Amino acid sequence: MSDSGGQRRASWLAGLEARPKAELHLHLRGAIPRDYLRDRVRKCPPARALASAPPSQLAMLRRQPAIARILAARDPAEELDGLFRFDSLEQFLAAYFFTVFFVREIDDFRGLVVGVREHLRAQNITYAEVTVSIPEYLQQGLPLEGILDALGEDPPARPKVRWIVDLVRNYGPDAAEKLLERLLPLLPPTVVGLTLGGAEHLYPAGQFGRVYALAREGGLRATVHAGEALGPESVWHALDTLRVERIGHGVRAIEDPRLVSHLAERKIPLEICPTSNVRTGVYPSIAAHPVRELYEAGVPMSINTDDPTFFDISLAEELAGLRSLGFTTGEIDGLASGAFAFAFDAEAAA
Ligand SMILES: [Zn+2]
Repeated sequence: MSDSGGQRRASWLAGLEARPKAELHLHLRGAIPRDYLRDRVRKCPPARALASAPPSQLAMLRRQPAIARILAARDPAEELDGLFRFDSLEQFLAAYFFTVFFVREIDDFRGLVVGVREHLRAQNITYAEVTVSIPEYLQQGLPLEGILDALGEDPPARPKVRWIVDLVRNYGPDAAEKLLERLLPLLPPTVVGLTLGGAEHLYPAGQFGRVYALAREGGLRATVHAGEALGPESVWHALDTLRVERIGHGVRAIEDPRLVSHLAERKIPLEICPTSNVRTGVYPSIAAHPVRELYEAGVPMSINTDDPTFFDISLAEELAGLRSLGFTTGEIDGLASGAFAFAFDAEAAA
């Protein structure tokens, strides 16, 4: 690389970092600031925090070497970085779940929201749709009204944060429907959408048709995690049964050319998270990721970080990484500015 080429690239990356950006797919705890987590762990040692976990969850958490090390450490806060060095989906999910045990009071939840806002602001993300997995906080004993109060705050300064409620598919369709019925009359205007995260292969999208019909009636916009752990049939179900407007991930649509054409023709955007897909094992490497193929087929997309703290990546880095797949700087700039158009709250994104 020539010096001038290197400088051009560095200033282009600096430009990506500085420009206003939108992020449409990241999880509240996936963006948990490490300092916040360290502070929480100092205030509530892990052994005490996990005392409330049901035995099956505790056993699952203890099986993970990084978590076992944290539990055994004299100073657990010093061992936290190990949490982010997982090498399987199972380890990632356990590490992610582990962090919820340190959000014990509504003030902790508020602190997390403030920390994530700061994380977004520091990256010049001016509009974000952040997914919040409500059942996990309820399991921690947090009151629903307090959670919704915190989500309802809408400070005038950027970033504008809008919330996507994740009912967590692992609790099953009946529990999701019951929770949504409870939520709908209470939702503040900052909550704009619905998604389902969790184990797609155990609880496929097609089971949740009634939940999504209810959400639509209640005025929520709809997306769902699909086509990540499962293949194209899951994306078809998301479209036909759930009638979602966007797809979280959706990358495995690439396995069905008819589906790829459908997404392009109907202009259904995918929320693509390339680093996440590699770190959780959907693809063995960025080189194997289908984002370029989907792009060339005309599928609309936004680029996102999913769980930036866990994958140790910023949105600008995620975008810049597309260079290695053959995207030009102009195409990447287009993806960065194009994400605003897929926002569920167009007014706040503007
Ligand atoms: Zn996600």
